[in-house]
Amino acid sequence: MALRASRSSFKASPFLGCSGFLKPSFIPKFSPKSRPNLAWRSMASSSSSTRHSPLDIQLTFLGTASAQPSSTRVHSSLALRLGSDVWLFDCGESTQSRLQQSIVKMGRIEKVFITHTHGDHIFGLLPLMASMLNGAGGAADGAEDPREHIDVNNPVVEIYGPLGTRAYIRSGLRYTHTRFNSPYVVHELRLPWDPKQGDFTPLPLHSAESPHGRNIFQLNGKWENIFADDLVSVSAAPILHSVPCVGYVVNEAPIPGKIDPKKYIPELKRTNMHISAMSRLQKGESVELGDGTVLHGPPRRRGRKIVILGDTHNPSAIESLALDADLLVHEATNAHLPGVDPATKEDETYKSIEERTRSRGHSTPQMAGAFAKRIRAKRLILNHFSARYPGNDDVDPEAKVIMGAIAKLAADEFGKEVVCARDLMNFTLGVPES
Ligand SMILES: [Zn+2]
Ligand SMILES: [Zn+2]
Repeated sequence: MALRASRSSFKASPFLGCSGFLKPSFIPKFSPKSRPNLAWRSMASSSSSTRHSPLDIQLTFLGTASAQPSSTRVHSSLALRLGSDVWLFDCGESTQSRLQQSIVKMGRIEKVFITHTHGDHIFGLLPLMASMLNGAGGAADGAEDPREHIDVNNPVVEIYGPLGTRAYIRSGLRYTHTRFNSPYVVHELRLPWDPKQGDFTPLPLHSAESPHGRNIFQLNGKWENIFADDLVSVSAAPILHSVPCVGYVVNEAPIPGKIDPKKYIPELKRTNMHISAMSRLQKGESVELGDGTVLHGPPRRRGRKIVILGDTHNPSAIESLALDADLLVHEATNAHLPGVDPATKEDETYKSIEERTRSRGHSTPQMAGAFAKRIRAKRLILNHFSARYPGNDDVDPEAKVIMGAIAKLAADEFGKEVVCARDLMNFTLGVPES
């Protein structure tokens, strides 16, 4: 995102904790043109630091399956596009293939947020990193592998996740002999009972791993502003699942108000003010005209809030952060669909399915709808469906009936329309009117 100056240096992190001790033997080799131990550069921004218009915010659901993928759904992954920057939320198996089928550009991925370390949410991360960070190939017969030299001038891909994310990545890279020539960093969201320091693995830093990964601790049960710049911030909270799991909240900063040129341009012309004053007015600033009149730009509008949950049977700990979300993405792994789903068993009821779903750490559509209502969400999109729920409802009438029934179960609780995500579905989050 924009305004990289605020995070161009990982060395100046104000956050608690620090992972990885940069022992001499673990110091990556740097190419001659790089500057060892200077700041590892973040992704270049596609946005300007001067904000004249709202961000274009789009979501692409790359994978929407739960435990097992099917012919129509692959494992969890969601791309959030903010302008031309891309943030991934979870990275299950086949994410890379889906990226290539989608309108999302892999080269624009600058951050990956992992909700939990279950395989259906993280198994795709290492292959994706290998592609993003030039990890393919190798060198035989003693030839020098050019990837021995990490170019710290390349942007750092930032990865956020719970305890174990760093160890999983480091182990996977180590035992697959994977090398990169671009750097990455892993920030872990640690729970109160997690280790305060260290990397949760005895393995040394990977040669491409920045030593500036943060261990981020909760304050009042939440991780607030784990990332923030002038355009967006990200907070997180634990949500209940069968293993430690995180829900993320992306908050857009207030956005410029709608400007009516007819209100301003005649005044600028009348006093011979340069038309460039419009850009200041658009930002909400005030402009004093030559005759002493002061024009005030339109007041800023609230920014959008996007809540993306991982697997959960109870996300109430994120409720205060998620209130009034413009969009909630919530899992709905299992549903009771008598008369619709031919696999429904005689003795199953709404209650029994909900009990079974909860006992496995998951939600039904009704649970998702009820939570959306509780946080006064404006829109709800469901994902993370059991393999028995088809993901081709755009072309298959039978699939449409099943997914329509799931959406209705959630909508009846929510009181608003609900969308069931399918792989490669794009969704644009419009700008609020006020
Ligand atoms: Zn899952
Ligand atoms: Zn899970």
